[in-house]
Amino acid sequence: MAESVRVVFLGGLGEIGRNCMAIEQGVGDEQRILLIDCGLMFPGPDLHGIDLVLPDFTYLRENADRIDALVATHGHEDHVGGLQFLLREISFPIYASALTLGMARNRIEEAGLLGRTELIPVVDGERRRIGAFDVEFIPVTHSVPHAHAVAVHTPQGVILHSGDFKLDLTPVDDRRTDLARIGELAKTVGIRVLLADSTNAEEAGYAPSERGVGRVLRSIFAEHAGRRIITASFASHLHRIQQIADAAIACGRKVATLGLSMRKNVQLGVDLGVLHLPASSVVDVEDIDRYPPGEICVISTGSQGEPMSALALLARGENKFVKLSEHDTVILSSHAIPGNESNVNRVMDGLLKLGATVIHSGIQDVHATGHAQADELKTYLSIARPEWYVPIHGEYRHLVANAALGELMGVPRDHVIVCDDGDVLEVSDRGVEVAGRVPAGYLFVDGIVGDVGQGVLRDRRVLASEGVVVVVVSVDTQTGKVLLGPEIITRGWVYAPEAEDLLDEACDTVAAAVEASLSSGVRDVEALERDVRRAAGKFVSERTRRRPMIVPVVMEA
Ligand SMILES: [Zn+2]
Ligand SMILES: [Zn+2]
Repeated sequence: MAESVRVVFLGGLGEIGRNCMAIEQGVGDEQRILLIDCGLMFPGPDLHGIDLVLPDFTYLRENADRIDALVATHGHEDHVGGLQFLLREISFPIYASALTLGMARNRIEEAGLLGRTELIPVVDGERRRIGAFDVEFIPVTHSVPHAHAVAVHTPQGVILHSGDFKLDLTPVDDRRTDLARIGELAKTVGIRVLLADSTNAEEAGYAPSERGVGRVLRSIFAEHAGRRIITASFASHLHRIQQIADAAIACGRKVATLGLSMRKNVQLGVDLGVLHLPASSVVDVEDIDRYPPGEICVISTGSQGEPMSALALLARGENKFVKLSEHDTVILSSHAIPGNESNVNRVMDGLLKLGATVIHSGIQDVHATGHAQADELKTYLSIARPEWYVPIHGEYRHLVANAALGELMGVPRDHVIVCDDGDVLEVSDRGVEVAGRVPAGYLFVDGIVGDVGQGVLRDRRVLASEGVVVVVVSVDTQTGKVLLGPEIITRGWVYAPEAEDLLDEACDTVAAAVEASLSSGVRDVEALERDVRRAAGKFVSERTRRRPMIVPVVMEA
């Protein structure tokens, strides 16, 4: 009987973002942990004031001494953006492609945590021992170069993590998802459990090739000859940046980068030979006004409408180097991540108001997804033929859609498992089953990590939508008399100068309630505060049909 292996899902199942999981093997004191990815999630608009959302690190903190290493599948923020936070608490080496490490390194370095890790590059197809684990790095095509699937050869067979992937047959760098190796694994040792990217499982057919975007870009550049062109895309999408640069250089333009992360990633890509950009075609963004508009292409960050990004500043006319006018064409070579739509729309409106022509993926095919659609997943399944199938990386409905594809492709229904964040899968001789739970809630970052919880967010939600009413009253607990007040201070409920009558009436109501309690012998401050809250809340709700936060303050004299 082989020892059992566990897969612990810490994030990314039921949401797009904060991908993180642990694979555990060994028995008793010898039980070791291999982490795969540690990403962040961008907060939706209901998470007021939150900068980032991370996986819950409780489980990892409690088992820190058992962690051998972390393997990063690729350089996207939803896979490596949490490292700079986890490394504060736990120290471990990181294995990934040189490019993935380069992207992760920027953030870790900024946080001053390089000393807490060792960055160990791996190459395509490499199989190596990492601590107690036997790990193989299989090339996959994605919207960032040099991404990997990870096959962990365990005592319970191969656990294959698909990574984020698509089956682009004509990728920009000719580096295809290595289906041949996956087929070989399937034919020889077999794939015991396949964990597969669900992001686009609901989309029928095949994702278009990245190379098609290049053709569209070239035709737009031709059509807009003589005009300055500004493009925005993810700074990590070096294939897209390559195609933009190629289109620009082919029609005699110089290329300038705008935005810190764009400059850093372009430099990294050039240094590693991933991005081919002749130095003679690159100019500093500060110098672009020396060239006629038709000879310049600016490659900018900010495709997600991030309010502080280079493109957002451009759209507000606040960028130091670039001022937009009716002579500019802006290409948003991207697709808004769920939650970012309104920011992107605001940026587009700003660009248009300044007179620029705006081209986006809603009107021309200037973007292609990096995630496999349904027919690609079916192809993958037909080659991998996993014994067990577990959808990962997606909102719940994406996981369910991916599970259906697994069944369709012949994985028995009871061998397809839809898991949640926090589930612990046990892989044993008996099969695969959910065998436990670990903490996997949201860890919020608002300036610093971990001091904002659900309670704070609930308050912020009420404050944002209903405002606050503070009622201050001072009482003499000896005599049972109201000494001062009630006084009402309010923000975001009614505009006080225009609602004097209403506020006076509210004061009278609260005063009556406090006096009634005092005369019936109540002297406890907390009890009096409850009475104030109740009276004020009832009044506010009856008179305005609103539910602001009521903050009673009873002072004892
Ligand atoms: Zn990705
Ligand atoms: Zn991802």
